[in-house]
Amino acid sequence: MRTDTGQVFKLEDYRPNDYLIPQTDLTFRLSPDATRVTAVLTVERRDGVSVSAPLVLDGDGLTPQRIEIDGKKAKPADLLVTSDQLTILKPPAARRFQLLIETELAPATNEALMGLYRSSNVYCTQCEAEGFRRITYFLDRPDILSVYTVRIEALRDEAPLLLSNGNPVDKGDLGDGWHYARWHDPFPKPSYLFALVAGNLGQVADSFVTASGRTVELGIYVEPGKEKLAGYAMDALKRSMRWDEEAFGREYDLDVFNIVAVSDFNMGAMENKGLNIFNDKYVLADQETATDADFANIEAIIAHEYFHNWTGNRITCRDWFQLCLKEGLTVFRDHEFSADQRSRAVKRIAEVRTLRAHQFPEDQGPLAHPVRPRRYREINNFYTATVYEKGSEVVRMIRTILGPDAFRAGMDLYFERHDGDAATIEDFIKVFEDASGRDLSQFALWYHQAGTPNLTVSSTHNPASQEFTLEIEQSVPPTPSESRKRLMHIPLAFGLIGAGGKPVEYSGVEGASVEDGVIHVRKRRHMVRFSGVTERPAVSLNRGFSAPVTLSVEQKADDQFFLARHDSDTFSRWQAFNTLLTDALIAAFREILGGKRPGFAPRLTELAGSIAGDEALEPAYRALALALPSEADIARDIGSNIDTDAIYAAREALALAIAAANRETFSGLYDRLADNGPFSPDAASAGRRALRNILLDYLSLLPGGAALAAGHFQSATNMTDRAAALAVLAHRHHGSPEATKALASFETIYGSDPLVMDKWFQVQASVPGPQTVDTVRALTGHPAFSMANPNRVRSLIGTFSSANQTGFHRADGEGYRFFSQTVLEVEKRNPQVAARLATALRSWRSLEPGRQAKAREALLSIANAENLSADLRDIVERTLA
Ligand SMILES: [Zn+2]
Repeated sequence: MRTDTGQVFKLEDYRPNDYLIPQTDLTFRLSPDATRVTAVLTVERRDGVSVSAPLVLDGDGLTPQRIEIDGKKAKPADLLVTSDQLTILKPPAARRFQLLIETELAPATNEALMGLYRSSNVYCTQCEAEGFRRITYFLDRPDILSVYTVRIEALRDEAPLLLSNGNPVDKGDLGDGWHYARWHDPFPKPSYLFALVAGNLGQVADSFVTASGRTVELGIYVEPGKEKLAGYAMDALKRSMRWDEEAFGREYDLDVFNIVAVSDFNMGAMENKGLNIFNDKYVLADQETATDADFANIEAIIAHEYFHNWTGNRITCRDWFQLCLKEGLTVFRDHEFSADQRSRAVKRIAEVRTLRAHQFPEDQGPLAHPVRPRRYREINNFYTATVYEKGSEVVRMIRTILGPDAFRAGMDLYFERHDGDAATIEDFIKVFEDASGRDLSQFALWYHQAGTPNLTVSSTHNPASQEFTLEIEQSVPPTPSESRKRLMHIPLAFGLIGAGGKPVEYSGVEGASVEDGVIHVRKRRHMVRFSGVTERPAVSLNRGFSAPVTLSVEQKADDQFFLARHDSDTFSRWQAFNTLLTDALIAAFREILGGKRPGFAPRLTELAGSIAGDEALEPAYRALALALPSEADIARDIGSNIDTDAIYAAREALALAIAAANRETFSGLYDRLADNGPFSPDAASAGRRALRNILLDYLSLLPGGAALAAGHFQSATNMTDRAAALAVLAHRHHGSPEATKALASFETIYGSDPLVMDKWFQVQASVPGPQTVDTVRALTGHPAFSMANPNRVRSLIGTFSSANQTGFHRADGEGYRFFSQTVLEVEKRNPQVAARLATALRSWRSLEPGRQAKAREALLSIANAENLSADLRDIVERTLA
């Protein structure tokens, strides 16, 4: 574990290293407790660098066994060796020399899951961001590109399969039960993309013929016996490869492409060149064990990692400040892929819900940072929703501003100009400026400035002059270390809608540049005047969520209802209804705090019924519309002085009012949707299941609800329906005989399947109410739970702290106390996972004073712990600052 050195890395301090490593030859002799790594590095001094410049290599917890320069043992006087650094004080005078370093590792005891470790007896690696330095001393930074050749030696019984990056070149027997394999990757790559896998794994094999006719051998490797669960992942991989050829003209470049699923993994998956390593959660699926959401995630993550081959691997990042260059862009690409494979409208709503749930709170709290940060203490803490999701929205806005053709021309230029480079955000923006002739300098602030911009909009219609005016004002709230903000370029898509939902015509517009239905907001205030407008239109704003902003719109409720029924933009139509629900929930929250019983307008609950039954709308869309804003969504919109119990009560009251008002419609539809034919994970079938399951959630609030949910659970033929019914029983009918029975039966059926048991932990960790902290504490002792496995920790502790508002924020602070103790316990093994967990308290200042004080105590108890890791100290100190 790296303890905190307090060092802050700054973007402006970047400079190229004095040395390059054009070639890296690695030999691994694998053993659980004593793996021998021999690295032979071809080192090259950069032009113009003094011969006396020392070579300083990064390490992390290493002990070198042997160091040779050009074949001769290095003299101790010429070296400075610590476990975190190897300095060659006087490198040879020749411009190129060879450096041999031998290290010894114990993968079996590596519980941080960075570098070389073991997962269920399989050797595997994770090197992004700085894990390679736990394997050997190296210039472990993304701008050092090297051609790797890797030889792996292992006992054949222990590891019949030996994989690394690139193409296989050689393999053979070594006697005494040992064997070896050699891999060569012709594409120079940074060390974070290095990977090795060795072990006993089952293989699913297939092949893919690229657009130019090359055959690529595909392999997905899983725990033996689970091969039948990898079919969907393989199908998703082949669709991704085809899509990248069609949508971006990008072909795969090696002879093989391998994916390995492991059960102990800090992240979702990793795009190592030619050898992606996956959290098995994002590979293994069938109808019995995976939900529709799992299938969709597998498709999206397989695509994401594959797309990195061009955006990340062929063109990588110059330094870690540029992380969004590969991540924001690749998330945008996987979003587009999923939109093409599924329903674009539904996908867009889901993306925006995720952005608001994860990125908006980041932007509004103490951990706010620009899409391209300028400083960090621990880069592991910057794999954030801002870098990924907001980074993707920024790329989407570039496409909105340029239009699809100029955007594609810019992407083509990016691949042409920067293939083989370690590039920057400036390089990326420049290709779009060059391809389109547009000036994106103001737009570039989206990369440099933190915070979610707000647009305040009001409108007036003058029937006499037939003029319609939109007054738009932008502001960006202050964020840590950025109190003054500059004005942004915000592409605001809009529509003017008249009676019957038809677009309202206008003859001219002034006050802002308006093109293709987009207002380009660039100044603090715009008065946008539309002339020749004969009737007062309803305004549909931020259509398709064209910019990641918040809107404060002065709009009549009548207009909102009108848009929720008639907006032709499906996103904005969903948004209009969602805004009505949010407004009603906030009003109910205030009534509850004032000691009143909340009431809801009949036209709101009726609208829910008419959306549910609208056969012109996709079932998946209707399911999304009926999903009430989450408690966290409501808390974010209220902003301060949050009482989580009152929010919960308001949300339950609205759910009950909607259910009671639509009982007949909902139950008729629920019955009609029962017959869904044979199982298929496709989007349309999944949408019908989603609609039926949300109807179940409403109907379960009415008399007979527990029996209905129990029947749903028992008759389920797939995990989507079974897990949905289990959640309804556990959450709505906590402690009932039906709920107890279903939880026990689920445990009996799936007790030996860790990924399915994660769902069982999740359901129980998210049961609302003060008692859940005790349940969760007890479940940490369950035989299926392990503090060492990130998936288990996220399912139980992560769900409790980030998705259980009433349990975690229990008024007496017990949820926080349990949380801080657990975070410290996880940290002993895995600082990265602990730091991620700790972000659950990032919005603590928006709580009411009592909870706020208790949350602060918990944060301080973490901050005051001894020997805190750099990862956790960074998060906790920024959160408290
Ligand atoms: Zn990625």
